[in-house]
Amino acid sequence: MSTPPQITCREFQDFLLDYCEGQLGDEPRAVFEHHLARCPMCRVHFETYLKAIELGRRVLAEDDPDAPADLPEELVEAVLAARAVGGGEPP
Ligand SMILES: [Zn+2]
Repeated sequence: MSTPPQITCREFQDFLLDYCEGQLGDEPRAVFEHHLARCPMCRVHFETYLKAIELGRRVLAEDDPDAPADLPEELVEAVLAARAVGGGEPP
């Protein structure tokens, strides 16, 4: 196992949508989560994004009882894990 390659915050944003839709493979997901764990700014952005999705789903759920109400468990775990790590140390 080698350390995942570094990505920029911009690339992280590109991954964000795919990640939330479960479109990322194992490797890009590891890269994404690696950045998430180390970049407080992207973590804030990510959590904001998740909340927006959750709010959107809640609104949808009121109209459509069949809409998925909850975020995927692994997504929540990723956020919690990123939080547990704390702020990324500057190099
Ligand atoms: Zn970042």
